[in-house]
Amino acid sequence: MMEKLKLGVFELTDCGGCALNMLFLYERLFDLLEFYEIEEFHMATSLDGGTHYDVALVTGTVSTRRDLNLLKDVRNRSDYLIALGTCATHGSVQASVEMPIREKLKAVYGDGGNPMGALDSKPVVEYVAVDFALPGCPYDKEEVYQALIDIAKGVEPVRKDYPVCLECKLNEYECVLVKKGLPCLGPITYGGCNAVCLRSGLGCIGCRGPLPGEVNPAGEYEVLKSLGYDEEYILRKFKTFSRWEP
Ligand code: SF4
Ligand code: SF4
Repeated sequence: MMEKLKLGVFELTDCGGCALNMLFLYERLFDLLEFYEIEEFHMATSLDGGTHYDVALVTGTVSTRRDLNLLKDVRNRSDYLIALGTCATHGSVQASVEMPIREKLKAVYGDGGNPMGALDSKPVVEYVAVDFALPGCPYDKEEVYQALIDIAKGVEPVRKDYPVCLECKLNEYECVLVKKGLPCLGPITYGGCNAVCLRSGLGCIGCRGPLPGEVNPAGEYEVLKSLGYDEEYILRKFKTFSRWEP
């Protein structure tokens, strides 16, 4: 029988949603357990971490020195590291706040210093090399399931390189940008969620982060301007989940 791979799930600073989302695989978790032995998963087991991980899933942003130390340690002790969720891939809301940590600490603690060892929040990908980045707030659990099955079978997981807009079209959903004038970021956001918000007639708020490459944020900006949204609103919308400058 094939030896099981050692899997660790680690949380840096985040809301816990991405770690919890793994548990919502429910009985399909048992399929993964045919290939993996879970060595570390704070939310699901009290086992203390093993010395080496074949695969590590890391959620959250680096927002404290403890996060940074944990991340470096996990990177050193794992063969394949997945940055999981938009906090880890793009920084999410906490990294999009532009005020430097010095000023935030001053506002909250006055001259009380930095009791938690806080750092400016940054995504995992800005500190260590990652083998795979899977965005989403939270990510689509089918994607992480497929990625883990692929890795277990020796296949490199497929990276999505198309926008949410494409999935919206493939599902034949109504375009809320054109038909309703909603500020939908589907044309410039990483696909992979199967355009789930569009299924309910809502605009995409860009929770999977901006897609690099051939998308056209300037065009999106102009369309939103022409629909009557002001510059400040549009830029705040663009920056909700990332420090990305459109
Ligand atoms: S990406 Fe979203 S759901 Fe996941 S940990 Fe961050 S805030 Fe929570
Ligand atoms: S449609 Fe947009 S906001 Fe909704 S889950 Fe997908 S990327 Fe996130």
